[in-house]
Amino acid sequence: MSEQGKKITFAGGRIQVPDHPIIPFIEGDGIGPDIWKATVRVIDAAVEKAYQGRRRIVWKEIYAGEKAHAKFGEWLPKATVDAIAEHAVAIKGPLTTPVGGGIRSLNVSLRQLLDLYACVRPVRYIAGVPSPVRQPEKLNVVIFRENTEDVYSGIEWEQGTEDARKVIDFINSNFNKRIRPDSGIGVKPISIFGTQRLVRMAIRYAIDHGRKRVTLVHKGNIMKYTEGAFRDWGYQLARTEFADVCIDEKELWEKHGGNIPEGKILINDRIADAMFQQVLLRPDEYEVIALPNLNGDYLSDACAAQVGGLGMAPGANIGDTAALFEATHGTAPKYAGQDKVNPGSLILSAVMMLEHLGWQEAADRVYRGLERTIAQKRVTYDLERQMEGATIVKTSQFGDAIIENL
Ligand code: NAP
Repeated sequence: MSEQGKKITFAGGRIQVPDHPIIPFIEGDGIGPDIWKATVRVIDAAVEKAYQGRRRIVWKEIYAGEKAHAKFGEWLPKATVDAIAEHAVAIKGPLTTPVGGGIRSLNVSLRQLLDLYACVRPVRYIAGVPSPVRQPEKLNVVIFRENTEDVYSGIEWEQGTEDARKVIDFINSNFNKRIRPDSGIGVKPISIFGTQRLVRMAIRYAIDHGRKRVTLVHKGNIMKYTEGAFRDWGYQLARTEFADVCIDEKELWEKHGGNIPEGKILINDRIADAMFQQVLLRPDEYEVIALPNLNGDYLSDACAAQVGGLGMAPGANIGDTAALFEATHGTAPKYAGQDKVNPGSLILSAVMMLEHLGWQEAADRVYRGLERTIAQKRVTYDLERQMEGATIVKTSQFGDAIIENL
C-alpha cells in the first residue's frame, strides 16, 4: 500500500467520505476470488479515470468463510465484524454456508451482528441481456426489503415438540383459537421501529436520488396487525418526518390532477399479490419499493428475473452506520478457480457502493462500461449461451473489456 487511507465517518447521520477511504473487502469462497479480482480492477480503473488520482480506494482485506477458517480456525472472526463496523462500508464475495458448527449462515450472522436492517436491491435492465419479457427496460426500481423481522426472525417451534404443544395450548386456551394440535408454529413480529427505520431509509434514498415515488407493499388486507400496520406506520412516518416532500395518492389526484409536482415524492401502497402483476403490467409506475421481509424476498427475485439479471443482480445490506455490498449469488464451487463465471453481480454491487460514497461519476463509468461490453456481446458463458452471435470471454477478460469501455 503506497499511501495510507482514512476512515469513512458519520456526521449528523450523513456519511463523510475522505478522498482515500479505507474499504475492507472479503474476497469470498468458491468463485469469490475470481470475481473479486475482476471487480477490484474495474473499480480502481473507473475511480482513476473519473477523478484522475484525486480519489482512490485503499482496500483492506478482511476474512470470513473458508479463508478465515483456514487462517484462524473461525468462520467469522470478531475482528472482521469489528472492521466493517469501524470502516462503515465494506464489500464481499459469496461465502460458503458452513455445514454444522453452529453458524446458520455467515450472511445472516453479518446482518444481525451489524444490524444491517435493509436489504437493498436495484433492478434495472442492461440492453442486450436476455430477458423473458418484451420491454424489460420499463422496470427500473430500487427495492428496500426489511431484514430483521417478520416470519424470518427465527421464532419457530417444530411440529410435535413439547414447546410447540405449549404454544398451541396457550393460544387455544387463552385466545379461544383452534390451531390444530399437529401444527408447526412460526411467529411474525413486525414493529413500528423496524418498519419506520426501513421506510425512512427508502424515502431518504428517493430524495437523494431524484426518485419520485415510494411504494409500500404489504398483505395488509389479510394480516392487518402486521402487514397492514407496516403500511399504516409507513404512511405515518411520511406524514410526520417528510411532510414537506411526501404527498399521497388522494392529494395527488385532488390537488395535482395526477401529476407529481416538482420537488415532491408520491407515497402510495399496493397489496403484495397485485404488486406482482403491477411490475409486469405497469412497471414504469414504480421507482422505490419498501416491503417487509418475506414479500421483499419474493419480489426482489421476481423483479431481477424480469430484467434477465438473476445471475447479475447486485445487492447491499445497509444499516444506520454500516453498509455491506455483496454479490447476490452463491459460491458456485464447481467453477472455482476457472476464471469462467460472470463477475457482473459483484461489479454492480460495487457500483452501488460507489453511489453510496457519493462517487457518482465513477459509478456511471462502470455502469456504462458494463453496458457497452454487453452491447458488444463480449460476455461470460452464462450470458453467451442465451445470446445469439456472442463471443465467450473469461471472468478476467470481461473485466478487461469493461475497463476498455469505461
Ligand atoms: P450458487 O453458488 O449461486 O450457484 C448456482 C448456479 O448459479 C451455478 O451453478 C451457476 O449456474 C449459476 N451462477 C451463480 N453465480 C454465477 C456467476 N457469477 N456467473 C455465472 N453463473 C453463476 O448457488 P448454490 O450452488 O446453491 O450455492 C453454493 C454455496 O453458496 C452454498 O454454500 C450456499 O450456501 C452459498 N450461498 C452464498 C450466498 C452469499 O454468500 N450471498 C448466496 C447464496 C448461496 P450454471 O451451472 O447453470 O451455469
